[in-house]
Amino acid sequence: MQNPNTYTLSGLVFDTDKPLLCILGAGESGVGAAVLGQKQGFNVFVSDFGAIKENYKTELQNLNIYFEENQHTEAIILNAVEVVKSPGIPDKVEIIQKLLAKNTPIISEIEFAGRYTKAQTICITGSNGKTTTTLLTYHILKNAGLNVGLAGNIGYSFARQVANQNFDFYVLEISSFMLDNMFAFRADIAVLLNITPDHLDRYDYKMQNYVNSKFRIAQNQTAANHFIYCDDDAEILKEINNKIINAQKHPISILHPIKSGAFLNNNTMQINTNANDTFEMTVNDLALQGKHNLYNSMASGIAAKILDIRNPKIRESLSNFKNADHRLEFVAKIGDVTFINDSKATNVNSTWYALDSYQTDIVLIMGGVDKGNNYNEIRELVKQKVKAIVCLGKNTRAIHDAFEDIVEVIVNTTTAQDAVEVANHLATRGDTVLLSPACASFDLFSSYEDRGNQFKQAVMQL
Ligand code: ADP
Repeated sequence: MQNPNTYTLSGLVFDTDKPLLCILGAGESGVGAAVLGQKQGFNVFVSDFGAIKENYKTELQNLNIYFEENQHTEAIILNAVEVVKSPGIPDKVEIIQKLLAKNTPIISEIEFAGRYTKAQTICITGSNGKTTTTLLTYHILKNAGLNVGLAGNIGYSFARQVANQNFDFYVLEISSFMLDNMFAFRADIAVLLNITPDHLDRYDYKMQNYVNSKFRIAQNQTAANHFIYCDDDAEILKEINNKIINAQKHPISILHPIKSGAFLNNNTMQINTNANDTFEMTVNDLALQGKHNLYNSMASGIAAKILDIRNPKIRESLSNFKNADHRLEFVAKIGDVTFINDSKATNVNSTWYALDSYQTDIVLIMGGVDKGNNYNEIRELVKQKVKAIVCLGKNTRAIHDAFEDIVEVIVNTTTAQDAVEVANHLATRGDTVLLSPACASFDLFSSYEDRGNQFKQAVMQL
């Protein structure tokens, strides 16, 4: 006889008195949401249309959390009171369309976890620089002795940490896909680094949709909160006055002075958010070099000042920070040629900043899966600095078309080893060989990390 306190869906038994939470996508964020959901008293069902990694399956099994892989069982999912969706799943897939038709709330893991923590959140978004700025901010807070967690697109999921840890602060890297399913979440400190075209395939190829998504980082903020944004970014400037932003605004600029924010004063980064306590630091002392990284240091520095971290601590952390690999990562200097791994540069804008960061002649290794790149953006810098291009990708037509009239030597390669050998051959003393592909890596590599690692290995074998 069926227990009156339970009910059955597709053979699975659920408690009548618990709401049904379905989680779509069993990666780190989905499994974290499942752990938290169970702890918070939901019936939890995890469903992934692909295969689930063994370690996650074992974890779910050990916790007695229901899950399925390679399918979505609608008889269960469509009965959910709420669905947590992995940011990787686009709205156009059938199960999401059916949930939307039923008006089932679909939220991101960040939205879900945010309900169950009182910790202060520092939330960082932008088209480029998210990971760097998130890691840097975390580094400063941690180094200052705060009880701080790191989450979002990095490491352990926010939900898992909310379930198992007791942090007072979280620094969260937030992508636009996460923002799309955030509704009531409020960031105590929000950072919007920049907006340049990316992922437009998920936004009906409309830039405005992508811009709107990025600005959601400031939604629900009140006058007690803070919004840090780049005052040199054309898209942000176009939009900022059209949006209602209630938070205290802190612009950052390397082009002009700022009243309450950060700016570049000759060769000094100046942060003046706190009256009578200006923070100053010479840019040469910053661990992260290059213009783009100056914005990242400014944003992190402001967040630290808002949290009342002492100037010497901020200075120390900004100078001894070590960034994650594959972002303008120094690999080696061989025969007076410097090799830099910027494999994470998967769009044109990040390659622009990479080119802008070096004063030497450059042999540029680029190419891969082009997401509809407009290479005009980097033509001027390429013309000034790039003496040769080594294409590393299956389809290199667009690169030839974009640059053959301004770069004398353009060579095709299809392995990291060939690319490095050719680049080394083309470089002369004092040059920089820069892997900054402006493209995704999936034609020849399993990921940008794989591409960067193979590049580094090839350099070490020279
Ligand atoms: P994300 O997490 O947003 O992808 P990363 O910090 O991983 O950003 O950096 C990705 C790429 O963008 C790297 O090539 C890096 O050098 C470049 N980059 C970093 N910060 C910025 C910035 N503020 N503006 C433009 N490009 C940047």
